[in-house]
Amino acid sequence: MKKYWSARARELTPYVPGEQPRNRKFIKLNTNENPYPPSPMALAAIREAACDILRLYPDPECTSLREVLGATYGLKPSQVFVGNGSDEVLALCFQAFFDPDRPILFPDVTYSFYPVFADLYGLTYREVPLDENFAVPLEPFLEENGGIVIANPNAPTGRELSLCDIRSVLEANPDAVVVVDEAYVDFGARSAVELIDRYPNLVVVQTMSKSRSLAGLRVGFALGNEDLIAALNCVKNSFNSYTLDRLALAGAEGALRDRDYLRATSMKIQNTRECTASYLKKLGFMVTDSSANFLFVSHPNVPAKELLDGLRQRGILVRWWDKPRISNYLRITVGTDEEMKALCDAMTELVEGK
Ligand SMILES: *Cc1c(COP(=O)(O)O)cnc(C)c1O
Repeated sequence: MKKYWSARARELTPYVPGEQPRNRKFIKLNTNENPYPPSPMALAAIREAACDILRLYPDPECTSLREVLGATYGLKPSQVFVGNGSDEVLALCFQAFFDPDRPILFPDVTYSFYPVFADLYGLTYREVPLDENFAVPLEPFLEENGGIVIANPNAPTGRELSLCDIRSVLEANPDAVVVVDEAYVDFGARSAVELIDRYPNLVVVQTMSKSRSLAGLRVGFALGNEDLIAALNCVKNSFNSYTLDRLALAGAEGALRDRDYLRATSMKIQNTRECTASYLKKLGFMVTDSSANFLFVSHPNVPAKELLDGLRQRGILVRWWDKPRISNYLRITVGTDEEMKALCDAMTELVEGK
């Protein structure tokens, strides 16, 4: 086994994504997908792009999409980088900005892809423990380091770090790149994009997978100082010139043009989130304050694993990790009101049946 594998490949422990059931009978609250369809403008743009032009390679520089993103976020196209999902953009950030001899920092409870990327590129890292309420402590990020990655809002906790704290981290680390992963920022959090022109060490990474309902299209992007974007292009063009296909480029542009749709669906999800959170609190759950499209919950009397299995028996998938500190928590994606009603009913049975 693994006879022909490289030494690096033998050492890898890959990221494990949440289950994608082949049949659709489950209420799927396990991978933070959006319960609402993509904008009709996105779908129309994809249909229009599905034509004989697929013979031709797409624009390797993704110029048109970067222009639209620049206009959306008040930046120049040269401050915008796009990739095949933000996972790819993050992977390229790890390669472009961090060196093996200077350890990078990220929280101990965060997106579990970060340590995987670090191992893949032979980087060393220190995991900074969140405090007992899962808040990101500031001081450890103000010490000497080789770079910082912070998900804001954090995953899987949903907690938000203030812009003021992000600024402190940026100011304390003028010689290191600070990557702020804003996968969930559109669900009510404050973006660090407005700091880009003031801090040349800031990279903001976002995705169209969550708030724009396009997880299946694979489009992510990074925003930052031109020189940082140039580094990402340098690494990407040493790896794959055509990371976004024509359908993805068209669909992403269509979605970005429909700002009203983003606002409306995001508001619905935020309302559903707050209703679900207050219901679960009445059932005795501890629910962390979430600025994202998911809730991170724990019950004092019923172990999370038991709830996970009980929900699954009732046709509902949520996410659970057998990991230190969070093994008694579940992460529940916010779905439609009907889906969350089913979740709340199932939780009531599981908790009150005890
Ligand atoms: C979902 C997620 C991503 C990845 O999203 P893509 O689908 O690859 O764009 C990145 N970071 C965090 C924290 C996420 O939750």
